[in-house]
Amino acid sequence: MKNATSLTADPPWASAVLTIDLEAIAENYRRLAGLVHPARCAAVVKADAYGLGAVEVAPRLAAAGADLFFVAQPEEGMRLRGVLPDADIAVLNGLPEGAEADYEGLRLIPVLNDLAEIDRWARLARSRGRSLAAIVHVDTGMNRLGLPAGQVDRLAAEPSRLAGLDLRYVMSHLACADEVGHPMTGAQSAAFRAITARLPRAPTSLANSSGIFRGAGLHGDMVRPGVALYGVNPTPETTNPMRACVRLQARILQVRDVDSPMTVGYGAEYNIARPGKIATIAIGYADGYLRSLGGEVHVCLAGRALPVVGRISMDLTTVDVSDVPEDEAHPGGWVEIIGSIVTVDDVAAAAGTIGYEILTSLGRRYHRHYVGSARGSAA
Ligand SMILES: *Cc1c(COP(=O)(O)O)cnc(C)c1O
Repeated sequence: MKNATSLTADPPWASAVLTIDLEAIAENYRRLAGLVHPARCAAVVKADAYGLGAVEVAPRLAAAGADLFFVAQPEEGMRLRGVLPDADIAVLNGLPEGAEADYEGLRLIPVLNDLAEIDRWARLARSRGRSLAAIVHVDTGMNRLGLPAGQVDRLAAEPSRLAGLDLRYVMSHLACADEVGHPMTGAQSAAFRAITARLPRAPTSLANSSGIFRGAGLHGDMVRPGVALYGVNPTPETTNPMRACVRLQARILQVRDVDSPMTVGYGAEYNIARPGKIATIAIGYADGYLRSLGGEVHVCLAGRALPVVGRISMDLTTVDVSDVPEDEAHPGGWVEIIGSIVTVDDVAAAAGTIGYEILTSLGRRYHRHYVGSARGSAA
């Protein structure tokens, strides 16, 4: 990822810079699509493409071959339609009552999560005298969304309820695919096969990012990766097969000499043990640099991993730069918060969370750069 070039374009007052590599995202898409071929590879771009910007990311994915996109909320689908005039856009959170005509007008494909949604969408199709595209979600153990077992039984007994629908897929969602060898995955896969055998014949979809890596038997006819597109490791037990897409840098505001007995930051919790230097950098929990990272995470400066010390505050973070030469740790310089040395997964582990939450928490104050052009040539 280009650093010097992206930074020279920033105004001198830029506090933190988020660089999003669209070409890396496109390459991750092509890698996953190649892995699951001939199954179709959709792209999950809910929560603003996991915080990276759906309006920028989705067209780049479309240029890389994606033609089916999943969002969570109807409004995300409406916004996405503005930049993807032709793609299939499916809404995971279902079909709110009263929203049917809006879905129809924008050609949003509802993921129908219960019989009431199926009936409302099918009734509209029949009243229009034309078929409407739909995905039916059946629950296989997640107990979150999708038809519960009793509703699957009723649908299997009354398949005419689907009349009028262009049933694109029957799908389900895996609860434990990130844990290699977890028995839940096999159990859900078997339950899904049993359910689809009882419903009208339709293409199937089960795997999220991690599911793609748990055997071709889970690929079905379509897969729904999200987080792997954005460089988070879908196989936490081993090396990350995906390319990193995000680089986050924050500005050094001050560097000060410290010595024992002094403390750093709120709560006076971090005690200085020996003569050294503290750099204060312009990022804090208001930017999604979670407060729980204080004392747990490293940042990168001049190729070195340096510890964050003391509590993270709203707009500021303090780093021990005692081991860094003066010409490399100076006000106005940059520290890498997320990149190839300290990855999204590293930051997540330090915060006791997952990469998904780190990405979707990325702040709104960052100067954002998108590199890697929409046609696939280097930016
Ligand atoms: C979010 C989501 C996905 C994508 O999951 P990742 O783990 O990010 O790949 C796929 N399917 C459903 C139903 C989801 O909610």
